[in-house]
Amino acid sequence: MNFAGRMDFLQDKELLNAMELTETEDMISFSAGFPSPETYPVEDIKESFIKVLENEGKEALSYCSTSGYGTLREIIAKRMQDKFGLQYDKSEVIITSGSQQALDMSGMLFIDKGDVILFETPSYLGAVNALKAYEAELVAVPTDHDGIQIDALKEALDRYGSRVKLIYVIPDFQNPTGRSWSPERRKEFMDFIGDYDIAVLEDAAYSELSFEEQLEKPLSYYDKKGQVVYVGTFSKTFCPGLRVAWLCARHEIMEKYLILKNAADLSSSAIAQRQMAYYLQHHDLDAHIKKISKLYQERRDTMMKVIAQEFPKEAHYVVPKGGLFIWMELPENKDARELLKRAYAEKVAFIPGGSFYPSGVKNNEMRLNFSNMSEEEIRKGMRILGRLTREYLLE
Ligand code: PMP
Repeated sequence: MNFAGRMDFLQDKELLNAMELTETEDMISFSAGFPSPETYPVEDIKESFIKVLENEGKEALSYCSTSGYGTLREIIAKRMQDKFGLQYDKSEVIITSGSQQALDMSGMLFIDKGDVILFETPSYLGAVNALKAYEAELVAVPTDHDGIQIDALKEALDRYGSRVKLIYVIPDFQNPTGRSWSPERRKEFMDFIGDYDIAVLEDAAYSELSFEEQLEKPLSYYDKKGQVVYVGTFSKTFCPGLRVAWLCARHEIMEKYLILKNAADLSSSAIAQRQMAYYLQHHDLDAHIKKISKLYQERRDTMMKVIAQEFPKEAHYVVPKGGLFIWMELPENKDARELLKRAYAEKVAFIPGGSFYPSGVKNNEMRLNFSNMSEEEIRKGMRILGRLTREYLLE
C-alpha cells in the first residue's frame, strides 16, 4: 500500500514494543503513564451514567454541540478560576476528546509544512507524534530544574525567526521528568514570550496531581495578550476511558478551534460529558484527587526509598512533588536500552529516555512510573532494577 510520507517518521517502534511487553501479565511495569485503575470511582461513575440516562437519556444519546455540553463547560470554567485564578468565560472553553485531540488540533491550527515548533525537552512523546504529523521541524529547547531555559529559547527564536509558530510546554510535574517550573520562571517566560507573536500550548495534564497543598499558577495566568492555549484533562485525576478533556483559548483563537473540532469529530461524546457534569455536581472531585494524590505520594516514597538504598550514587534523579514519574539519569556513556533488555529478562519494565526527545536523542536516561504498581511490586521491581543498574555501571 502507498502510505503518506509522514508515516515514515511517525512510529516510535521502541516505545510501542516497550508498551506491548508491559502488558505481559507477570511483568512489574514502571512504563505506563496512566493513573492506577484501582482508583477509578467505578460505582460513582455507574450511578452518574444511570442518572443521566434516566433524566436526560435522549440528549445524552444524541450529538452534542461542537463546543461541548454547556453545563460541563461552565463547571470547568469555574473550577479553573477557583483552583488557578484563570478567568475564562464559558465561551472560551471547549470540550475535546482527550487532551490528545487538543494537541492534534493545535498542530492543524498553527502548523504548515516546514514550520518550527519549539519543544521543552525531554517531552511527552504523544505530543511529539501528534505535532510531527503536520510536518513541522521540532526543535528541542532544554530545561533545567526551574523550567525551560530562557537563554536557549531566545537562541532558538533568533535562529528560526518567523518559522517558529508554536511552543509546546508542560509546566507541571512534566511527562517524562516529573519536574515543575518555578513560579519565577513561569513569569519570566511569559514576560519574554509576550514580545513575540507565537502561540504557547500549555499542556496541564498533571497540574492537579500535586503532593503539596498549593497548586502553581499556570502560564495562562500570566498571559497578558491571549497567546496561551491551555489544555486540561480528566484523564489523570479521574479516568482516561471517558476521553473528556478541555481546551481554553481567547475568542479569536477559539473560533478557529471550533472549525477544526467540527471537522475532526463533530463533537465529543454527549453521554460521557453529561456523566462528567453529573459527577462534578453530585460528588467531590477534589476529595477524590486528594485521595489518589496521597496514594501516589506513598508509592513515590516507596520508590525513592528503594532507589536510595539500592541504586548506585552515579544514578541521578529528582524527587517529584506530584505527577506520576521519576526521571533517572545514568552516566553519559551508559545506555538505558541495554539496561531495559536485562530488566525484561527479569520481568521488570520501564521506558528508556531516548523516546522522549523530539530531536537529538540521549540514551542514558529512563522514565519510571510510580502510580501503577502496588508498594510490594515497587519494592520488588526496584530492588531488581537497582541490582541490574549496579552491575551494569561496573562494566
Ligand atoms: N499530555 C500529557 C503530558 C500526557 O502525558 C498525556 C497522556 N499520557 C496526554 C496529554 C493525553 O491525555 P488524554 O488524551 O487522555 O487527555
